[in-house]
Amino acid sequence: MNIVLFGPPGAGKGTQSDRLKEKHGLAHLSTGDMLRAAVEADTLLGRQAKAIMDEGALVPDDLICSVVADRIEAPDCKRGFILDGFPRTVAQAEALDRMLESRQRGIDVVLLIEVDEAALVGRIEQRMAETGGSRSDDNVETLKKRLDVYRRQTAPVLPYYRAHGIVREIDGMQSIDEVSADIEKVLAGID
Ligand code: AMP
Repeated sequence: MNIVLFGPPGAGKGTQSDRLKEKHGLAHLSTGDMLRAAVEADTLLGRQAKAIMDEGALVPDDLICSVVADRIEAPDCKRGFILDGFPRTVAQAEALDRMLESRQRGIDVVLLIEVDEAALVGRIEQRMAETGGSRSDDNVETLKKRLDVYRRQTAPVLPYYRAHGIVREIDGMQSIDEVSADIEKVLAGID
C-alpha cells in the first residue's frame, strides 16, 4: 500500500508515519528528513537546499522529485511506502503519478491530517523545547512562512487528489492514539 500523509507543518505527519511504518512494514519517506540528511552530509543537494529550507520556502520541484524517484526504487519500498512531506506542489503530484505509473503502481490513499492552525504554533514551540532547537527551521517566524507556503503552494494539491477520489480526512486535533486509531479505520476500509 502506498500512502501520502498530507497536512500542514506540525500536523503530526512524522509521528503517524513512524507508527504506520512499525505496524504495516511500510517504508517511511520523509523528504524533509532526506534533505536534512543531505545538509548534514554537506552533499551538493544539501548545499542547494539549506538556505531555502532555513527560510521556510520549497526547494525546486526537479531536485526533490529526482530524490524521491531514486528512493522509491529501494528494496524497502517494495511492500509500499508512506510519503511524508511530498508532494508539496501540483507539479510534484503529477511527477509522482508519472513515476508510479511507469512502475504499474499508484497512490492508494491520501490521509489529510486536519489541524487548527493556531494550535500549530504551540506544537512547534513544544517540538523546539523537546529537540533543543535541533531543526534550524523550527521557529515561530519560519513556521508562519511555512504555513503561508502550505496554503499557497501545497493546499492546491488536494483538489488534484480529490479528483482521484482518494482523500480521507483525519481529525488531527485528537490525541496521537486517537489519530492513529482513525487512520487504521480508514486503512482497514481500503485493504
Ligand atoms: P519538513 O520536514 O517536511 O517540514 O520539510 C522541511 C523543509 O524541507 C521544508 O520547509 C522545505 O524547505 C523542504 N522540503 C521538504 N519536502 C519538500 C518538498 N516535497 N518540496 C520542496 N521542499 C521540501
